[in-house]
Amino acid sequence: MQTAEIQRRWLSFFGDRGHTVVPSASLVSDDPTLLFTVAGMVPFIPYFTGVVPAPFPRATSVQKCIRTLDIEEVGKTTRHGTFFQMNGNFSFGDYFKEGAISYAWELLTSSESDGGLGFEERDLWVTVYEDDDEAIELWKRVAGLPEHRIQRLGKSDNYWHTGQPGPGGPCSEIYFDRGPQFGADGGPAVDDTRYLEIWNLVFMQYLLKEVRSKTDFDIAGELPKKNIDTGMGMERVAFIKQGVDNMYEIDQVRPVLDRAAELSGRRYGAEHDDDVRMRVIADHVRSSLMLMTDGVSPSNEGRGYILRRLLRRVVRAMRLLGVDAPSFAELFDASRLAMRDAYPEVDAEYERTSRLALGEEETFLRTLASGTTILDVAVADTKRAGAPALSGDTAFLLHDTFGFPIDLTLEVAEEAGLTVDRGAFDALMTEQRARAKADAKAKKGKLADLSVYSEFRAQGETVFTGYDYLQTDSRILG
Ligand code: ATP
Ligand code: MG
Ligand code: MG
Ligand code: MG
Repeated sequence: MQTAEIQRRWLSFFGDRGHTVVPSASLVSDDPTLLFTVAGMVPFIPYFTGVVPAPFPRATSVQKCIRTLDIEEVGKTTRHGTFFQMNGNFSFGDYFKEGAISYAWELLTSSESDGGLGFEERDLWVTVYEDDDEAIELWKRVAGLPEHRIQRLGKSDNYWHTGQPGPGGPCSEIYFDRGPQFGADGGPAVDDTRYLEIWNLVFMQYLLKEVRSKTDFDIAGELPKKNIDTGMGMERVAFIKQGVDNMYEIDQVRPVLDRAAELSGRRYGAEHDDDVRMRVIADHVRSSLMLMTDGVSPSNEGRGYILRRLLRRVVRAMRLLGVDAPSFAELFDASRLAMRDAYPEVDAEYERTSRLALGEEETFLRTLASGTTILDVAVADTKRAGAPALSGDTAFLLHDTFGFPIDLTLEVAEEAGLTVDRGAFDALMTEQRARAKADAKAKKGKLADLSVYSEFRAQGETVFTGYDYLQTDSRILG
């Protein structure tokens, strides 16, 4: 079943059941506290909090999402993309737990010929919040699930809130059992590789007053209206339905992976590290394409910096596959072809987005060319001396003179089994900033610094800006 077909079935299932079909919002969230749209519910936050009255009692969408928090998982797990699509059904004070559970069960287990997704009942497990006896009863009654396939989990897994006073509530998640070849028995409470999380049902029922942490908060009372927010990972369902191993092998992503394999002359499936690199490339190219299509341009801060980082990671992964020549033209074209049916705007914006991507690739390849030799020599010297860490001086020189971002130096060092003397690097950065400040004062009124690499100058700081923003993503994550 192609991803587009899953999307079609999803929207017609909920559309037929009284849900207003709402098109995906931009990846660039309207919410100024969020860097990106990280979940299907984000565009509906004002309706959930009651700030704006919901214009419909129930809605459904297939929402483009970016989760930079998952970047380190990409390619290593089967299930984490920086870009993915979250299919949601939402109730604003309309149906509640029973409705959410019975819709989810019906869509998953109805046969393909009846318009459903055709999952076998015996492959599905659920988790519920530990105190939520009502949900347990409903899973037994509505879905006929046997007790042993319903597992209780605590607040860290099965309780949703925004991290601030406001709405919150228990959730219940649906998992697919991939089979004994992927791990031991025991259900999702013990193994999230064999048991793959596909769908989260949030029962938004309480008003929270004090929120001290994810697991430590006080409930003020019941919300006047109880809401439903659900999110099903479309790529996860697609990879199960397409009978492939992971989300980077689905129809919307695989062509990029194949293009990376072709360009590098390496075979996917032959070597683990290469496979991870190809999956990272396929994921990041798609995420970058979708971000640029939604208007983000590479830059040194905020959203643009995340995009820049994704693009550079692609360059870097291609180099690790042995490709030093430019490859973005081919990679992005493969992604465009795979995504344009679902998102025609990818085609419409391609002239601009490909220009941005190619420009970024060119600049970064130039940077790499000048810094790589120095870094390689420094790594070799450090290892020969038996030292555990690259010196802060080297990291600083690379950064300051060659525009080599510190995260790249850290990555290269890590691959070579080394660390970086981060304390010394940070101290040099602080000194340099103080110097730059003094300089700027002295030079006030003169022309700006036109050094080729000036765009990389602020790197040390922007890395942290990036992470600060990333923290705010976690507000919405389940
Ligand atoms: P996981 O535990 O696997 O990281 P999650 O609990 O963080 O997932 P939720 O916040 O509950 O995910 O999001 C709802 C659904 O969206 C998940 O059940 C999953 O199917 C999908 N999903 C979440 N994160 C990703 C991702 N990075 N890539 C692809 N799908 C995702
Ligand atoms: Mg997660
Ligand atoms: Mg979840
Ligand atoms: Mg989870």
